[in-house]
Amino acid sequence: MTTDADLKNATSDTAWQDDVRAGVRHVRDLALLPLSPAERAAAQEAAVRHKVRAPKTYLDLIDWNDPADPIRAQVIPSPDELVETEGELDDPIADHAFSPVPRLTHRHADRVLLFPTYQCAVYCRFCFRKESLTSIGRGYTREALEEAYAYIEAHTEIREVILTGGDPLSLPDKALAEIRARVEAIAHVRLLRIHTRVPVVLPSRITPGLVGALQGRLMVTIVTHFNHAREITPETEMGCRTLRQAGFVLLNQSVLLKGVNDTVEALEELCRELMYRLGVKPYYLHHGDLARGMAHRRTTIAQGQALAAALRARLSGICNPVYVLDLPEGGGKVPLGPCHVEAQDGDNWRIRGLDGGVRVYRDVVGE
Ligand code: SF4
Repeated sequence: MTTDADLKNATSDTAWQDDVRAGVRHVRDLALLPLSPAERAAAQEAAVRHKVRAPKTYLDLIDWNDPADPIRAQVIPSPDELVETEGELDDPIADHAFSPVPRLTHRHADRVLLFPTYQCAVYCRFCFRKESLTSIGRGYTREALEEAYAYIEAHTEIREVILTGGDPLSLPDKALAEIRARVEAIAHVRLLRIHTRVPVVLPSRITPGLVGALQGRLMVTIVTHFNHAREITPETEMGCRTLRQAGFVLLNQSVLLKGVNDTVEALEELCRELMYRLGVKPYYLHHGDLARGMAHRRTTIAQGQALAAALRARLSGICNPVYVLDLPEGGGKVPLGPCHVEAQDGDNWRIRGLDGGVRVYRDVVGE
């Protein structure tokens, strides 16, 4: 059982480094895990295709007696990853095609993605950026971001800077403070958004030093990436509470993954625990991107729509994520439903209610 003293200790400024060191950092560390010889050989083969890494506390959540464990499915390489299916892509949402300068993607006028690092605290098997993480493999340097800062400065339409990657919160506090200071020095930027798996897989990294590095002029929104209720623990609860109490807005995006969270019960529990226990608003439920070697984890869109409709009926609005697809070729994130409009006839709209019954709503507007 985790005590308050354990939790306090876990947020000391260096405890997270022990957690990383005691986890899996290289293919050879798979030998430390309770896998059968056949499972280990298969995992080692698949890890050649996409790097392997997971902190110890995250690995400790795995029930090793269950080959279908939802945490295991997210981080332990599977031979299914070696099966590539026609239509899968290296760059599923066209980050590179919309990259005017290194380390930056500008797809929508008012916001940019900034990639301070291509390294992560965990390498998720389903990652849609895994080709960048594998082939580029670059870490943070101040110089690497100079062109990106100059680009943001020159484009006054940019309001939001989204740190993504790679995982920005895997960087040292000093680097994060530098990046935050450079971004907030650009007057037209209004919001700093951070997309991260760190609060999920390495909550000991949420330290006073990290919080201090991110506090400044800008509104900071941290978008976490929980995929299953089993990832919600006393440690993640404490990490999220620290971030909330520091004044950051917390949202979560999940990926719909076959065998991990593709049941209405799993998603319902995840969304409720996110909102009620962590104070993290479920924001997006992503349909699986066309990342290579991931056919075994993707559902069909029709399956996703059925799940989204069931969630809509069961969960309050604040607990409900929007089911979206990030379109190939940079088409952006679009909602996939559910759509409750059945038909329109002039001013009359036939709309299906949450109870399945159809009502007519008439547009009544002034001249
Ligand atoms: S932490 Fe994010 S960027 Fe890194 S492997 Fe996982 S999904 Fe990909």
